[in-house]
Amino acid sequence: MDFSGGCYCGALRYHATGKPLFKALCHCQHCQIFSGGMAALLIGMPKSLFAYTQGEPAVMLNQSNSESKAQREFCGHCGTHILAIADSNPEMVSIKVGTMDDISLYGSPEMALQMDDSRAFHTLPEGIAQYPRWPWS
Ligand SMILES: [Zn+2]
Ligand SMILES: [Zn+2]
Repeated sequence: MDFSGGCYCGALRYHATGKPLFKALCHCQHCQIFSGGMAALLIGMPKSLFAYTQGEPAVMLNQSNSESKAQREFCGHCGTHILAIADSNPEMVSIKVGTMDDISLYGSPEMALQMDDSRAFHTLPEGIAQYPRWPWS
């Protein structure tokens, strides 16, 4: 895959290339905060094949109150959440699919993560793999 994306206001732009490491819906409590209450749609890419092409992200390290400790990167101007880097997988970026310029490149999620935090109204596409937590830690 080869794709670009950016934030709501356009200040932050990125490019990523290579084979996706995963395509997932993450249900962790933090993703629910950022998504407005639903799971976050993510694409995992090798960090070495991801780069910001315009702007510098704001960085948040929230190490509290979660099973999914991560660094999260945002647009410091409009607040769009671009990606997260899990402490357990520092060489992988989990990009928010909604920030991709062409979301049709994504296809569909293949797995559901952090299901221990999911709510009754979080419905899943049929037949996708489910994990109670982050399966790579
Ligand atoms: Zn922005
Ligand atoms: Zn999450």
